[in-house]
Amino acid sequence: MIDRSQLEDAIAAATGDAAVIVAMASRSGGSINDAYIMDLADGRRYFCKTHARAEQFPGMFVTEYRALELLGATATIRVPAPVVADMDFIVMEAFDEHRPAPDWQEQIGRQLAGLHQATRCDRFGLDFDNFIGTTPQPNTPLEDWVRFWRERRLEPQIELFAAGGNRGDPLIALAGKLSERLDEILADPVEPAVLLHGDLWSGNAAADEHGTPIIYDPASYYGRREAEIGMMRMFGGFDARCYAAYAEVWPLADEHERRIAVYRLYHELNHLNLFGRGYYDSCIATIRGIL
Ligand code: ADP
Repeated sequence: MIDRSQLEDAIAAATGDAAVIVAMASRSGGSINDAYIMDLADGRRYFCKTHARAEQFPGMFVTEYRALELLGATATIRVPAPVVADMDFIVMEAFDEHRPAPDWQEQIGRQLAGLHQATRCDRFGLDFDNFIGTTPQPNTPLEDWVRFWRERRLEPQIELFAAGGNRGDPLIALAGKLSERLDEILADPVEPAVLLHGDLWSGNAAADEHGTPIIYDPASYYGRREAEIGMMRMFGGFDARCYAAYAEVWPLADEHERRIAVYRLYHELNHLNLFGRGYYDSCIATIRGIL
């Protein structure tokens, strides 16, 4: 467990107010890190994540901090306000998870469309690399989205898979066929880069004290918005009301399902690389479905 005085010093330096932690309660539920809710003597409540082997993922917490800052600055959808991060930990505003309001699905759909609309720009990527889960996620910017997707998303995951002792695996040849056809599959519609949460599965979205949406644990970059929906579709949890509300604000272009499958594949490959063969069949099925 992380040293309390180290946390207190960091919080005091970041906020300008002396920090004395009076309670630290372990918070289960995350897939990667150790998490705590911290109570301070002056009544402040923070959420803190640490990792026993944080040095294996250099910059993981600092990049999360920067993504929370970027998302928060849009004032379109609630994210926990970050307080301080360094190599070993991140501290952020804590929220209390409540029952979702009856229109939580519509709200999150509308708010995500608002986030995407408010952040339109020309360059895909981000000025720093980050992680998707614990996998490094390269973000060096490009103006060509298809090239970005091929070189910064699809190919690195395939290379990771190959390097894991799978060089002759049929999945690699199949992914190669997809890679060759990406220009045609992703060409239209030409859409701008928008700020993505980047890892928006249902476990990274909740209802706050007001029952309204809050999203956290981002892997942000600027990408086409259909890539956000690729992750949202992987495990479900966002339903037709969410997508309808999104489309009322900013409708998706025709024939988006095939492109969304391309984007979902990135996360399926990442799960294959992180968690093993259980995801193999879905990767194969997704590529076959696209081709
Ligand atoms: P990990 O990086 O390990 O996946 P998460 O960031 O997803 O961890 O957080 C783990 C769990 O803690 C979440 O599923 C959520 O329930 C809760 N949580 C996340 N952020 C906060 C926060 N700011 N305040 C309170 N609880 C939080």
